Amino acid sequence: MGTVLAVKDLVVNYGAVQALKGVTLELGDRDIVAVLGANGAGKTTLLKSISHIQPIRSGSVLFNGTDLATVPAYRLAELGIAHVPEGRQVFATLTTEENLNVGAYGVRNQPAGKQLAKTKDWVFGLFPILKERRKQLAGTLSGGEQQMLAIGRGLISKPRVLLLDEPSLGLAPIIVQEIFRVIRQIHEEEGVSILLVEQNARKALGVARYGYILELGKVAIEGEACDLKNDERVRAAYLGGSKVSC
Ligand code: ATP
Repeated sequence: MGTVLAVKDLVVNYGAVQALKGVTLELGDRDIVAVLGANGAGKTTLLKSISHIQPIRSGSVLFNGTDLATVPAYRLAELGIAHVPEGRQVFATLTTEENLNVGAYGVRNQPAGKQLAKTKDWVFGLFPILKERRKQLAGTLSGGEQQMLAIGRGLISKPRVLLLDEPSLGLAPIIVQEIFRVIRQIHEEEGVSILLVEQNARKALGVARYGYILELGKVAIEGEACDLKNDERVRAAYLGGSKVSC
């Protein structure tokens, strides 16, 4: 498996606060990698710094060998990177469909954007409820529907790499199931590589090949998902102490 995304010695500061203290990780081609950790560990900062929302103090992020520092933010979608931020952040006063259209703007000259109707049908196939709600204002959707729309808006650019920040946060178990079904589906059917930030360690390690656990801005533990599930420290701190089968 080739490496698609390589993060090396990443340091990010917010004023005097060092949020990332030299993080190194890799995401392979057709891979799912989980980034776990408590509140404030630096998970969101990691995704924001990959997608140029948060400036990097030092270190690098390579995408297929290209240093992303040399790529302007507006070209990331074209390159094949989509970021689904934490907390849904849909455009409340636009309809479901208009939110998807906005998501496609960055790839308007790429196949995904040129054949937008087809790409939208693909997203509607993944999340049928979005098709039913296509004319509805996004602000009036349920929390689960908004999360699906946020993911759909990321997928509309047909990314090679999806940066997914806490997709299960605050959602009912049935919606969480639905979202993880789609994570599996896009990985299996389209070969999308996914960097998955989650507090739900059990769910995340259920789909991921490999995982990193961040503590206070550093990678504290890393390993194959199966090994992490059986690691005493991981079980005690992130899996509620119970044994999880591989
Ligand atoms: P959560 O699960 O709560 O979102 P996280 O692991 O994603 O946590 P980050 O949001 O990346 O953590 O935050 C990492 C550290 O950086 C925390 O100490 C946080 O307080 C700090 N931080 C995050 N954003 C800012 C900001 N805009 N200004 C100052 N400090 C910040």
